[in-house]
Parts: sequence; C-alpha cells; structure tokens
Amino acid sequence: WTSETIAVVTGANRGIGFEIVHQLALHGITVILTSRETGVGQEAAKVLQEGGLNVVFHQLDIIDPLSIESFVQWVKEEYGGVDILINNAGVNYNAGSDNSVENAEQVIQTNYFGTKNMIKAMVALMRPSEPGARIVNVSSKLGRLSGRRNRIENAEIRKKLENDELLSEELIDEVMNTFLKQAEDGTWKEGGWPHVFTDYSLSKLAVNTYTRLMTREFASRPEGEKIYINCYCPGWVRTAMTSWAGHISIEEGADTAVWLALLPDQFVTGKFFSERREINF
Ligand code: NDP
Repeated sequence: WTSETIAVVTGANRGIGFEIVHQLALHGITVILTSRETGVGQEAAKVLQEGGLNVVFHQLDIIDPLSIESFVQWVKEEYGGVDILINNAGVNYNAGSDNSVENAEQVIQTNYFGTKNMIKAMVALMRPSEPGARIVNVSSKLGRLSGRRNRIENAEIRKKLENDELLSEELIDEVMNTFLKQAEDGTWKEGGWPHVFTDYSLSKLAVNTYTRLMTREFASRPEGEKIYINCYCPGWVRTAMTSWAGHISIEEGADTAVWLALLPDQFVTGKFFSERREINF
C-alpha cells in the first residue's frame, strides 16, 4: 500500500468511521475523510493531518444526490479513481428497549438507500488495478436473516430474501418500501418484522442483502477488474450511536473494516464478518 492507494470513508467525522480513517492512514494510504457537515469534517481531518497522516477532507451527504454527484466529480478530477470504499455512515434512533419507528424513513434512507447510492455512484471509479478494489459495508448482526432473536417472522419475505438466485435490487427496495408504508400507516406491528430496533435492523438486513446481490454482479467482471465486497458488524461500540454504552472501543470496532479493506487474499468476497471471522448472513 502506498500513498497512491485511495480510500474513501463515509460518515467519518466521528465514531467508528473516524477510527477507520485513522487506521487506514497509518498504513500509508491516502484517505478521504467525508462528512455531511463541512466544519466538523474539516476539524476531524485536521486532527489526523496534524499527526502526519495523509488524510483529505471532502463534504459528502449520502442521502443527498447532489452531494454524491459533486463528490464523485471531485474524486474523478483529483485522483482519477479509488481503491477502497468504506460505507460507514449510518443512523439509529432506537435506544435501550425502546422500539420507535418514528424515524424509519430517515433510517432506511440513510443506512440502506444511501449506502446503495454510494456504491452505484462509485463503482465506475473503483480502480481495476491488481489485486482488485474493495468495498466494505459497516452493518450489524441485528440485520441477520439467520438471527434467532431478531429475525423476520414474515415467512414469505424471508423466503424471497434467502434465495440468492431470486435476489434483485427491486426486491430489496420493495421490502423496504413495504415496511416504510406500514410504519407510516401504523400497521407495521403485524408485518412480521424484526422485534427490536425494527427499522435499524431492517436497514442493515437490506445492506447485507445488497452486499450479496452485488457479489453476484461483480463476479461477472473480467479478471483485473474485480471488485470485492464484504460487510461486517463492528460489535457494540462506545460511540454516540450507543450513547457510549457499548462495551468495545472504536479501535476494536474499526479493526475488521480495515482488515477487510487490506486483505491480501482477494478471493474473499460476498461474506459477512465479525471480529475478523466469517458469520452467517
Ligand atoms: P456515530 O453516530 O458516532 O457515527 C455515525 C456517522 O454517520 C456520523 O459521522 C454521522 O454524521 C454519519 N452520518 C449519518 N447520516 C449521514 C449522511 N446522510 N451522510 C453522511 N454521513 C452521515 O455512530 P457509529 O460510529 O457507532 O456508527 C458507524 C456505523 O457503525 C454505522 O453504520 C452504524 O450503524 C454501525 N454500527 C455501530 C454499532 C455500535 O455499536 N456503535 C454497532 C453496529 C453497527 P453526523 O456527525 O453529521 O451525524
């Protein structure tokens, strides 16, 4: 890895995203720290720049198409392409045992649609250099299809999402939109959705499912143009999202993202990880 290697991290002004930037930059990579708020993003980048790291700031709001467009344009002009994309930006409004769907729209829009839009916008910029470009999606075990405690009970939807052959972007979007409609009209409790952190869990289930779908699409790319995509759960991390109640540090939470981004074994793709170990979707 050299300073010619370009990595992009979303939602990196604080928390796990900030630490992912830090750890990637320690490997000598040029890391683009992005944040939806310019002021706080610049401040965050400054902290790392002052430590001698090769970190550059750019504004990026993953649910604002204009922001994504101008970011992509800037990356293209400035660097020509990127090698690593870490989709970390996310929101969660559930706390403790509360299970509010009040902000369901923003949660699904950010965590799923925002992540998807970033992947779509960046794919053309992912460099076809050896050993291949990498995408890491920061997800959560709460979004597991196979989870026992928080699984989707709706058998019809489960069946559709489980089958790799039947997966499509339209299907994932449709499932999310069905939930959002029920959240809006108040019928979501009968929908057979995950019991806790319902909107958040579903958003991460969608990220995981989209990762599986993209794996299939990327597999058809010719040798030398490969893009490797994986997702992982950082664990319960002490950040603003958990009101600093998590039991692991941001350093540990960022570790698997950085490991996946820099893995020399490029055949690893389409998998879900926790603490550097593969787990079931
Ligand atoms: P934080 O709340 O500390 O950080 C979230 C980051 O995402 C912030 O920088 C926030 O920006 C940014 N963000 C939110 N919306 C947008 C947007 N539209 N565009 C760009 N950036 C945005 O939480 P964490 O560091 O804990 O979370 C990072 C990731 O890890 C998330 O995807 C989360 O779901 C996941 N995760 C976290 C766990 C944990 O225990 N903490 C557990 C499992 C997964 P701003 O400062 O402007 O709000």
